[in-house]
Amino acid sequence: MAARIEWLEDGAAGVSPYSPRFGDHYCSESGGLEQAREVFLKGCGLPGAWQAQPQWCVLETGFGLGLNFLVTWAAWKADPQRPRLLHFVSIETFPASAGDVLRSALTHPELIPFAQALKEQLWGLLPGVHRLVFESGQVLLTLCIGDAKAMLRESAFEADSVYLDGFNPQRNPDIWDMHTFKAVARCCRRGTRMATWTIARSVRDALTQAGFIVRTVPGTPPKRDTLQGEYNPAWKPKKTRPALARTQAARCIVIGAGLAGAAVAASLARRGWQVTVLDAADAPATGASGLLAGVLAPHVSPDDSLLSRLSRDGIRAMLQQAKSLLENGRDWRPSGVLERCVEHSRQLPAAWQHGQALADAARDWTQPATPAQLAAAGLPPKTPALWHAQGGWIKPARLVAAWLATPGVTWRGNAAVSQLVRHAGAWQALDDAGHLLAQAGLVVLAAGPGTRALAESAGLEHPLALQPIRGQASWALHAPEDAAGQASRARAMPPFPVNGHGSLVPAVPLAGGLAWVAGSSFERDSTSTRLRPADDHQNFSKLQTLLPAAAQALAPQFESGQVQGWAGIRCATPSRLPSLGALEGVPDVWVCSGMGSRGLTFAALCGELLAARLHGEPLPLEQRQADALLPQYVAR
Ligand SMILES: Cc1cc2nc3c(=O)[nH]c(=O)nc-3n(C[C@H](O)[C@H](O)[C@H](O)COP(=O)(O)OP(=O)(O)OC[C@H]3O[C@@H](n4cnc5c(N)ncnc54)[C@H](O)[C@@H]3O)c2cc1C
Repeated sequence: MAARIEWLEDGAAGVSPYSPRFGDHYCSESGGLEQAREVFLKGCGLPGAWQAQPQWCVLETGFGLGLNFLVTWAAWKADPQRPRLLHFVSIETFPASAGDVLRSALTHPELIPFAQALKEQLWGLLPGVHRLVFESGQVLLTLCIGDAKAMLRESAFEADSVYLDGFNPQRNPDIWDMHTFKAVARCCRRGTRMATWTIARSVRDALTQAGFIVRTVPGTPPKRDTLQGEYNPAWKPKKTRPALARTQAARCIVIGAGLAGAAVAASLARRGWQVTVLDAADAPATGASGLLAGVLAPHVSPDDSLLSRLSRDGIRAMLQQAKSLLENGRDWRPSGVLERCVEHSRQLPAAWQHGQALADAARDWTQPATPAQLAAAGLPPKTPALWHAQGGWIKPARLVAAWLATPGVTWRGNAAVSQLVRHAGAWQALDDAGHLLAQAGLVVLAAGPGTRALAESAGLEHPLALQPIRGQASWALHAPEDAAGQASRARAMPPFPVNGHGSLVPAVPLAGGLAWVAGSSFERDSTSTRLRPADDHQNFSKLQTLLPAAAQALAPQFESGQVQGWAGIRCATPSRLPSLGALEGVPDVWVCSGMGSRGLTFAALCGELLAARLHGEPLPLEQRQADALLPQYVAR
């Protein structure tokens, strides 16, 4: 649930933000900026402590108006010896609105550009983990919306610094109690430094019980004292979920230059890896990722299932990548997507309904389509349909090319890998004549339907549960017409993609003109990419149900054979979730595949998740969601 903030004219510069829920002010007596610098940054020995480190991770309880994050980010940016990667994980039960966050920073001119960039990404903060990306992926803010104890207990990363913030311990005792600090301690290593503005006795005692050595230090007036400390328990900490070791960036081979492989390569290269991407074809994105344009839209379900939440995390990650790497209107368009509920009306979770706790955050994602949106798609006003505000279309091949252009990534075509051989602690990728294609300590299999055979060649005992699913899309350039015909066609075609029973992307700019793409057929266990006229008929018949007016406008093209087909092989898991993780019993071989029909939704998130797991970083999604993606196997 969002925080309600009152801005009080109490003499503070730029008026003072106040929480009626907690009966307390957001800023300290000395002002938020001063507190962020003096108490938190300096209290944790920053920026000195992070210098010459490859990455640094700050954990904060209480995001509030985000000042501590903004100040830490600004200090990172100003430091020539900054770490390559700054993680900032912050837990917040009641997130402030983007407008309030920006407003609170307006009194600090040096922070305004940072606050504006933050504001752009503060939308759709439903309960759960949200990864916000700044500085081309070098500053990663993980906002955990929910109960601090529950969220921290699930996590398995190691913080280097801890900021304990929040309303006064008397007003919000929960965030300052021993159980919260024990949950914080689970995310600390011996030597992690902590700082806070309160020296309340109860806080000092609870921190001590949780394993922190604390000391009171003189504060900046008007604050007499503040608290600093270090995690150094007298006992050997027992962790139910130990943090993964931080792997050093080195050399890696990625097999497959589709969405999955390119996303992994870019995520690893941003962390300093030298990545060689091998592909059997002579150009990148010639497998399923060669699709002209695909639809990006979240999954929704009444119980907000794991797939639904995962799809939102994936879309947020994909939008960040598309915004920074692609050209809007040429390579992609975040137009929104209308989902027509053809087979059954899709119910939104009860808490998303108008007037309910999560309605505001949910509205940023999905809501019932309005009569105007339905009319724009040529549908009657009462047609059951949803509007996905964060949806759109993307040309996968453009994104693959952009990811492969990341410094540190080398792409090699005509490099079909037949076998993976372990030699002197490294992996060798060999072609079918036994020639060496590449060698590295780490291999990531992202070869779509070819993934399973590659895993077995590396010695995997139980085959990966991955299934090929053939699909054919139909497309054509918009037919040139006389002026009257054009006007009626323009009215029949929706101004945004529509999905729900097949899909239509109505306007994709190609070199030869503006195209439409309708899809797609779905045939399990087929690996044939031969084009079939029957599949185009099937796509047309789906379109007639989905969008009768558009189907009527495109019928002449289908009837006169002007429509072309494009076929590819999706690769899916039994759970319909991607397959992401280290292979069981095969050292240093990971898999990133099983994107199914949602490669655009999952690829960017999976790339970041794989890199985060390898580096022992905070994950870009909830731990249990990440666990659900671990590779599935079939028993022989
Ligand atoms: C008709 C159709 C419509 C679709 N529509 C959408 C949509 O609207 N939205 C959406 O999100 N998704 C859609 N998808 C799904 C999406 O295209 C896939 O999920 C995604 O492209 C998968 O990417 P990938 O990198 O895992 O696999 P691929 O793109 O298939 O890449 C695998 C690569 O591995 C290479 N390779 C395989 N074996 C070897 C080997 N032994 N050695 C070297 N290289 C090898 C291949 O050459 C290939 O380039 C659609 C798919 C199809 C077929």
